[in-house]
Amino acid sequence: MQDPKVFETNVKPTWCPGCGNYGIWMALKSALVKLESMNHNTVIVYGVGCHGNMRDWMHVYGVEGLHGRALPIAQGIKLANSGLKVIAVVGDGDCIGEGGNHFIHAAKRNPNITVIIHDNEVYGLTTGQASPTAQVGMETKSTPLGVMEPPMNPVSLALISGATFVSRGFSGAIPQLTELFMKAIKHNGFSVVDVLQPCVTFDKIHTYDWLRKRVYTLENTPETFTDGIMKSFEWGEKIPLGIFQEIQKETVEDREGVSKTPLVTLPLGIPDREIFIRMFR
Ligand code: SF4
Repeated sequence: MQDPKVFETNVKPTWCPGCGNYGIWMALKSALVKLESMNHNTVIVYGVGCHGNMRDWMHVYGVEGLHGRALPIAQGIKLANSGLKVIAVVGDGDCIGEGGNHFIHAAKRNPNITVIIHDNEVYGLTTGQASPTAQVGMETKSTPLGVMEPPMNPVSLALISGATFVSRGFSGAIPQLTELFMKAIKHNGFSVVDVLQPCVTFDKIHTYDWLRKRVYTLENTPETFTDGIMKSFEWGEKIPLGIFQEIQKETVEDREGVSKTPLVTLPLGIPDREIFIRMFR
């Protein structure tokens, strides 16, 4: 088996020491190794945030999108070349805030891509403002009196939007997170892993200890959609990890007829591509 280091560049990570991003990075590299993925057939699309810096030290094809726009790019790549393994590595603010609409509509379309959400309740890169997943009462630079609105729940949102694989992991439990990533990446359809990850610099509440005392793993995937939704709302003294839904549905690549024959392998069907390109100048 390959060493996870094959997925590292020679750039050293600049994340704060102890950041939950390290656990996610480690689990992702291990999952790719166990799945026998290759550097050249894997593409990761990043949003904007601390998570997005991973592009510099992750040795696969990478694109850093605009804030919140990782999912349209990831879907476009998959449609153009369905032979690639396409993963979107995004932040909670990035994906559920700025990119919320893209997330909902991607889940509805069911493209065969995986979304890994770095969920730490803050905008870490811009020094710790509250993100859409911040809990009520959380004091941050942007909410000095505490967050007043209830948080968005990425797991519930993914379920009601139609995602076919929905799960939650914890960056402090790397072996379990590796397994979740493997299942999500192998899933044929839109798979979501919401990863609880401490921002050790700007969130002094949701620390590793705070999370370790609360997280537990679901023994089984809930049998029905309603059971999954009800379970996704559990938060507080007990926080469930694991798979909330895993179902099969037609993917957008199936509908478009490109799941078995990647678009890039088809002839262009135009006699002179230069003339064609000039039409759009
Ligand atoms: Fe991690 Fe927070 Fe530091 Fe960003 S600011 S690298 S999320 S600890």
